[in-house]
Amino acid sequence: MRASRRIATLNAGGSDGWGIFLRAREMERQGRAVLDLTIGDHDRVTPRVLLDEMHRSAVDGHTGYASVPGTPALRSAIAARVAARTGVATGSDNVLVTAGGQAALFASFMGVLDPGDTALFIDPYYATYPGTIRAASGVPHAVAARPSAGFQPQVRDLETAPDARALLINTPNNPTGVVYAEATMRGLAEFAEGRDMWLIADEVYDGQVWTGAHLSMRSVAPERTLLIGSLSKSHVMTGSRLGWVAGPAEMIGYLADLAVNTTYGVPGFIQDAAQLAVTGGAEIEAELVQTYRRRREACLRTLAGHGSIGVVPSAGAMYLMLDVRATGLSGEAFALRLLDERGIAVMPGESFGQAAAGHLRVALTRPEAALNAAMAQIAEFAEELRDAA
Ligand code: PMP
Repeated sequence: MRASRRIATLNAGGSDGWGIFLRAREMERQGRAVLDLTIGDHDRVTPRVLLDEMHRSAVDGHTGYASVPGTPALRSAIAARVAARTGVATGSDNVLVTAGGQAALFASFMGVLDPGDTALFIDPYYATYPGTIRAASGVPHAVAARPSAGFQPQVRDLETAPDARALLINTPNNPTGVVYAEATMRGLAEFAEGRDMWLIADEVYDGQVWTGAHLSMRSVAPERTLLIGSLSKSHVMTGSRLGWVAGPAEMIGYLADLAVNTTYGVPGFIQDAAQLAVTGGAEIEAELVQTYRRRREACLRTLAGHGSIGVVPSAGAMYLMLDVRATGLSGEAFALRLLDERGIAVMPGESFGQAAAGHLRVALTRPEAALNAAMAQIAEFAEELRDAA
């Protein structure tokens, strides 16, 4: 039997980006020691207080169908968080709780695209973006943010893109770590306004800002922005699948109807733990941010002495993007050799599109000492390759 064209072409035209990750797993199975810096997941479990709250809630009976758009208490807690971070009045009816930021992205595209509509997104990009747009029967179109512009998207590059219903942006950015400047955000908002487009703003790393400040698109253009948030990165809750869309109440109402017909909501005991995380988890969040900040600074110190490697001027998110173009190798070729010859697994820039070719993304998801040793090895390896070229 034939599958739908939509589903059969979901990952069309690109690698899924997981080649190095899978190869690293295979090497480990064969008994080789591999330092895995590929995946954006924490090297610790969800904090005990949140697990205890899940357990308490479940044992107390919150195991049936939960409120589909989100429990009133959680929606209102998220609304307060969004209002505090954006300066825009936000109520419960502006918030839909979803199964992670990923389900929030899918719901948002379902909300704004008709079949065949184009959605623009910025390259380099988080791996699911084109597939998510296709899943909503849209046509993804990538617009490059160039290394020479510090990976800040430029309006003049968007102006030559085809007509589209939506523009998806991500700041702080995965994979580059770049935080979009205020001028960038205002330029993008003006561009979207000129073409009457929706802005889908993936800000799941909004708490991980190392230098400067993050400006939310909801602060700039609230009437046309669907803001994507998540507790995955902020509260070590990747496996809990808890995220949200915040935006105009009418659209949130439609997305709640969609949730009835797709996920039927998020488990009640997860929502209760999420409520505790949002209302009482400031210390958890601060401690995690501090950990990534220290790791990042340690890596930058180690790399500073090595001319063979460039570091993208990142200001946020739990990644570092390294520029290895001086070695003459592609990111993919460098990453493969680094894995085979040094046992260090990192993501090639090419896994995130074309704009980050010749780069590597390092996830800061191992202890400081291991990361530091890895940075020294990567820099040495780059020097050897450059000298041999
Ligand atoms: N957006 C970006 C930029 C991400 O990096 C991730 C996770 N790596 C997500 C969305 C999805 O996260 P989740 O579904 O766990 O909230």
